[in-house]
Amino acid sequence: MTGRRIAIVGAGPAGLYALQALLTRPEVAGVDVFDRLPVPYGLVRYGVAADHPKTRAVVRVFHRLLADPRVRFLGNVTIGTHLQRDDLRAHYDAVVYATGARLDRDLGIAGETLPGSLGAAEFVSWYSGHPDAVPADALAGARSAVVIGAGNVALDVVRILGKDPASLRDTDMPDEVLAALSRSTLTDIHLLARRGPADARFSPLELRELGDVPDLDILVDRADLAADRAGLSGDAGRNLTLLDGLADRTPAGRGRRIHLHFWHRPIRIEGDGRVGAVVAEDPRTGTTVRYPADIVLRAIGYRAVPVPGLPFDDDRAIVPHTDGRIAPGEYVTGWLGRGPSGVIGTNRPDAVRAVASLVADLPTLPQRPGTAPSAVPALLAARGVPVVDWAGWLRIEAHEAQLGARRGTATVKLVDRARMLAIAAT
Ligand code: NAP
Repeated sequence: MTGRRIAIVGAGPAGLYALQALLTRPEVAGVDVFDRLPVPYGLVRYGVAADHPKTRAVVRVFHRLLADPRVRFLGNVTIGTHLQRDDLRAHYDAVVYATGARLDRDLGIAGETLPGSLGAAEFVSWYSGHPDAVPADALAGARSAVVIGAGNVALDVVRILGKDPASLRDTDMPDEVLAALSRSTLTDIHLLARRGPADARFSPLELRELGDVPDLDILVDRADLAADRAGLSGDAGRNLTLLDGLADRTPAGRGRRIHLHFWHRPIRIEGDGRVGAVVAEDPRTGTTVRYPADIVLRAIGYRAVPVPGLPFDDDRAIVPHTDGRIAPGEYVTGWLGRGPSGVIGTNRPDAVRAVASLVADLPTLPQRPGTAPSAVPALLAARGVPVVDWAGWLRIEAHEAQLGARRGTATVKLVDRARMLAIAAT
């Protein structure tokens, strides 16, 4: 049997951990990694906050994998638009889908779609310099922000909004994002958690980091913390201890305040042509409270986008599978298969499992119909798709390093897709 050729759709952590597992297999002769963006790394580049460089360090591992001579990166290629599922089935022995979850879940309350109400996926994309991100004026003139949700994404959003932008200059945040954050007139940022502190989903590490942000008052109502603490395990106990510490602090009258509100279930967003306030209800008592909001950020979880042609469970927003196997020859890993939970490293065992299913199937899968490795790039060229290959990405990366040198940091992200394509093609 000659070596097998595999396609991976999605160059984020899920796809790249699958690549890592595939490259250990002697049966695998080549792997093509597609991404709809001109650049690799997915959520590591566009989801992990710029001030979390340690979490981003995994890029070094992913870089080595993509640079392997058995691997080709084909960026700026959208499956379902430029190539169809059937094209992949025709040219590869097996396909691993790892396109993640890039939409925001709906909150399902009145006012959710008013201008000024943004999903965290949109907002995180913006401050991460994603080429498809919302315009930078989302914060213009805003004094009060309401962030809905009590997960790590909500804490990321609150921290980035609360920080002095000067402290972000040594990150890879695009200049235009730094400029917009510097113009921010926000004074109050309210985080609304619909349940109590013992049920917060954020991790103690993130909460401690928020508490350590300089020049920021963090306000927690001690009455919200009156939970039954007996038997509280691990993270919940640690979160409560940290929240106790925050509640004990005396506000220093700083210019920017973060308010952490528990037992605040949002019931509607009010506004006349644009968001103006969020009304929340205490689920225990039914009493309501109203917070002014010039911007509302809904950080209540992500949702995968169906891949054209693949089955999709709309309720769970995942591609159904067994141990990563959608059907023999097609596999899924990461958030597209399990939903939006876990940290970057959680994708590794997930990918190992999907690749184990793929490898187990390989002997029974029909050998690819003898198309040369050059067939897919030729097909994309014939369809007029400006593919960004590995050399193209390295040119973008080098350009970003030059931008970084100008600002005195390691690298600064390019945002504009057309510019990325032009630089990649130079
Ligand atoms: P998440 O952890 O699932 O948190 C979602 C939050 O939204 C929960 O507090 C949830 O409350 C709340 N929520 C859901 N529906 C709601 C509704 N209708 N009304 C009000 N609140 C609602 O999701 P995430 O924050 O998007 O994070 C996704 C994954 O990425 C997580 O596994 C997270 O740990 C990970 N992540 C990690 C880091 C890090 O490690 N630094 C950073 C970012 C993200 P309930 O609990 O009541 O449902």
